[in-house]
Amino acid sequence: MMQDAPIENPVTAEPPVGGRALAFAGLTPRRRSQLAQLGIITTLDLLNWLPRRYEQFQNGLPITQIKAGQMVTVQGMVVQTRLHRRRPMRFEALLEDASGRCVLTWFNRRDLADKIKPETLLHAAGKAGTYKGRIQLVQPEIKLVEKIEAVPPRDGIEPVYPASADLSKRFIADLVAQHLEECLADIVEWFSEAYLLERHLIPLRQAYRRLHQPTSTPEIVRAQRTIAYHEIILFQLALEIRRYHQKHSTVAEKLRTDDRVDQRIRALIPFELTPAQNRVIADLRRDLSHRDPMNRLLQGDVGSGKTVVALYAMLMAVAAGKQTALLAPTELLAEQHFESISHLLSGSRVQVELLTAGAAPAKRADIIARLKSGELHLVIGTHALLSDPVEFGHLALLVVDEQHKFGVQQRAMLRHRQANVHTLVMTATPIPRTLAMTYFGDLDVSIIDGLPPGRHPVITRKVTSEQLPEVYQYMQQQIRDGRQVYVVAPAIEDGVSELDSVTAVLTDLTRHLPTDIRVEPMHSRLAAEQRHQTMDQFRAGHIHVLVSTTIIEVGVDVPNATIMLIRQAERFGLAQLHQLRGRIGRSNLKSVCILCSDDDSDEAKARLDALVKNASGFRVAEEDLRLRGMGEMVGTRQSGMPEFLFPDFLLEIPFLQMTRRDAAVVIAADPHLIAPENARLRHEVYRRYESTLLLADVA
Ligand code: ADP
Ligand code: MG
Repeated sequence: MMQDAPIENPVTAEPPVGGRALAFAGLTPRRRSQLAQLGIITTLDLLNWLPRRYEQFQNGLPITQIKAGQMVTVQGMVVQTRLHRRRPMRFEALLEDASGRCVLTWFNRRDLADKIKPETLLHAAGKAGTYKGRIQLVQPEIKLVEKIEAVPPRDGIEPVYPASADLSKRFIADLVAQHLEECLADIVEWFSEAYLLERHLIPLRQAYRRLHQPTSTPEIVRAQRTIAYHEIILFQLALEIRRYHQKHSTVAEKLRTDDRVDQRIRALIPFELTPAQNRVIADLRRDLSHRDPMNRLLQGDVGSGKTVVALYAMLMAVAAGKQTALLAPTELLAEQHFESISHLLSGSRVQVELLTAGAAPAKRADIIARLKSGELHLVIGTHALLSDPVEFGHLALLVVDEQHKFGVQQRAMLRHRQANVHTLVMTATPIPRTLAMTYFGDLDVSIIDGLPPGRHPVITRKVTSEQLPEVYQYMQQQIRDGRQVYVVAPAIEDGVSELDSVTAVLTDLTRHLPTDIRVEPMHSRLAAEQRHQTMDQFRAGHIHVLVSTTIIEVGVDVPNATIMLIRQAERFGLAQLHQLRGRIGRSNLKSVCILCSDDDSDEAKARLDALVKNASGFRVAEEDLRLRGMGEMVGTRQSGMPEFLFPDFLLEIPFLQMTRRDAAVVIAADPHLIAPENARLRHEVYRRYESTLLLADVA
């Protein structure tokens, strides 16, 4: 057992909040810059480069006793080697110990052929499998030795570090092992031992030591929990600070919600709203009748009918003589919204315009002028709406569609616009409730569950490319019955990668389908004008098959399109596949989504099966979470959401609630974290969240 060093915060010269720049003797500038590329610049960065997983090795087993599936170390003598030059290049070594023989196999490691020869003695460590009746280790780690030792080469639990092309797992493991104490010295504890103990946590320094030099699984879990607590509480503090700020500094327009307004709005909607839609509308009416700015997230599966609910709220703003804006992440979606909303409002006096980056200068100037004067009631657009020359006379409500699709920068611009304005953000990327609670901790959440009446869940099937001719046959027959088809490909043009492209699929389809079936491409490199035309013609039924990239992922609404074929489906994320699938199943016609994939890895199979089995986006999201872990799901830099080292703890509701409670207590007593005992927390919170969306406008 390892002894934990005593916990002490050095009284003098407290280390800097982010740690010290790495300056170990022997660390070359080249290595340093390779580390920097991974974001490892300081001692604390290195500590935070945590093992991705741990391997429990069975040591020194005689080869004949090894079973497939075990992590093992073996030692012995190479008796034979073989280099298979055909792709994928494979190098094999037959290893013998006193009990028997096993095979070591590497792919694309021609270099080993010079290193490993008959009579070479070595240690190998890896996962055992079987190949042609023999035990085999694939891609094992090896060490050449002078003689076979009695002592096994490894012991117990081995951390496995994430690596890069330049830096191997081994290099990082050695670096951490050699300098662990030096790095740990830069940790300053944030909380007292008593505080931590009450929460079944351990001091930070101890936690890091246990994660890098693990001794048992329960200890690893306790250490992970400790670090999770520290990172999640920072996030909760940032949210609390922002909530506090919003409550004390902003007021919005109070909008009228009487029955006359309600009736006038409903008269414009051509269908009966579902109970779920009405429930959300009640939420919105309640929110909008207050001066506190609404800050609501509307979640609903693809096709659940969020737009019309948003339109209701927007018309409340118009009825009050104010302005409202609908923001969409792509031009295509903005165009679609403009199309359908101006259609619905054609009989009314509401003035609606579309403003995108591609708008003609004169038109653009006109819209900007009318927005400023307040004359224009409702504007639909892309992030062009957020850019500088655009000013609103009296904006009361901002609606953001497919919010998760906006980048970090755009969100920051958005925040800026949001002050003193009611905001409704919508997303169809279904987020399990716990996640919503965490990530949108300062938002109220409404959910539309269920689809409009008469809809059938989309039937999803998996095929391989060998079956494509049958799929084309089926498409053709459906087109003869009057239906339309989407084909989605992962790339636009053929390139160096092995991705199926829109261009290639287009050629393929023209070859397989009769000439009277019209097939057209759709992707972001087409001119806006062209895209517009193609969408119009597809909507009108003149184009039968649209071969597209994921550009159609959000919002496109063509109810007569009932077949979707997704090529190389394994290339897309689960959430994205579900979104894509949401383009069909938009009428009372039967819809079929065909996932084409030749990837027979377990991972690809599991993911695609999740879609075949689950029609509901919420179920798909849960599966996604299970398969990928939470970090991958939402914690990407791109989404603008903070990354967590241990995001899975966000799924533990009691844990999450504890962090939230603890943060609330701190902020209630010291809203700006200026008390001396909160100095460390203040540094950490602002270091992490000042420049991001959370505290940018608060600091
Ligand atoms: P999403 O939630 O994915 O944004 P949309 O708002 O685009 O979904 O709605 C999908 C389709 O369902 C649209 O064609 C819309 O007109 C239609 N729709 C919405 N609500 C209803 C309803 N209550 N009854 C019938 N059709 C509806
Ligand atoms: Mg939508």
